[in-house]
Amino acid sequence: MNSSTIINIQKYSIHDGPGIRTTVFFKGCPLKCWWCHNPETQNPRHEIMFFEERCTGCGICAKRCPQNAISIKEGHSVVDEEKCILCGKCTDFCPNTAKEYVGRDVTVSELMKEIMKDEVFYDESGGGATFSGGEPLIHIEFLNEILKKCKEKGIHTTIDTSGCVPWENLEQILDKVDLFLYDIKLMDNEKHIKYIGSENTNILENLKKLSDNGCRIFVRMPIIAGVNDDDDNINSAIEFLSHINAEQINLLPYHKMGMDKYRRLKMTYKLTGMEKPSEKSIEEIADRFKRFGMKIKIGG
Ligand code: SF4
Ligand code: SF4
Repeated sequence: MNSSTIINIQKYSIHDGPGIRTTVFFKGCPLKCWWCHNPETQNPRHEIMFFEERCTGCGICAKRCPQNAISIKEGHSVVDEEKCILCGKCTDFCPNTAKEYVGRDVTVSELMKEIMKDEVFYDESGGGATFSGGEPLIHIEFLNEILKKCKEKGIHTTIDTSGCVPWENLEQILDKVDLFLYDIKLMDNEKHIKYIGSENTNILENLKKLSDNGCRIFVRMPIIAGVNDDDDNINSAIEFLSHINAEQINLLPYHKMGMDKYRRLKMTYKLTGMEKPSEKSIEEIADRFKRFGMKIKIGG
């Protein structure tokens, strides 16, 4: 596979692995976490994000739409999803940037060219390229190729993954990945299904296998008050992680930053009313992990 869909290439990133990095966000994810702050990465297809508050109802997009999918109702652009072919033309002509096209197809060589532009920063800072998402491992053929190219050029590689993929996807890239950022969220399977949309068995098994294979791992755990900060979940996570050779554990306090995107994508945000956990409660959770000799970092 020579091309894949991404949403963004973030330059000079300092939270997705060591040093200064170029982070590539792939589109498409098998999970649907209630607190996801990048909901535009969930759907593998291209999408149109609509900023209703910017729309003046001028009707230019309706005239430009090749499918006649747009009408103006109550002063705003309204799209007939059945007619829309996601061509993106309406985003090109809006004078108020009320529509944004989400998703860009890139080839391995195009992406590699972007990554190599900052080679000098990687060398100076010990950085490299991070492949995130969405879930990069569902783009396995493309990912395998780009990782191979990075290794040929001596670029440090990091994969930011939910682990919710067949083990074979991970197995075939092990020799090309320098660091895994691996998410765990809920240890109770029923709660995992409720809040995340899938079972956790495979995710936990894959993490154990990565550890057994001697991979370098940073575990990342979001902390959402009332969802996964209870004693049972923290104790189970500590128990499980005591058998995992993780170099550090990042606790990521919940924040609401992506909330508006749900409305713009016509998605439902299910954690309405949820507040950021207090610093004190995060520190207390961190201390519990530390008591078992685990290296903890709060934040990314
Ligand atoms: S072109 Fe932009 S401002 Fe005009 S109707 Fe379409 S979305 Fe609204
Ligand atoms: S993406 Fe294309 S088909 Fe869909 S509403 Fe916009 S212009 Fe029309």
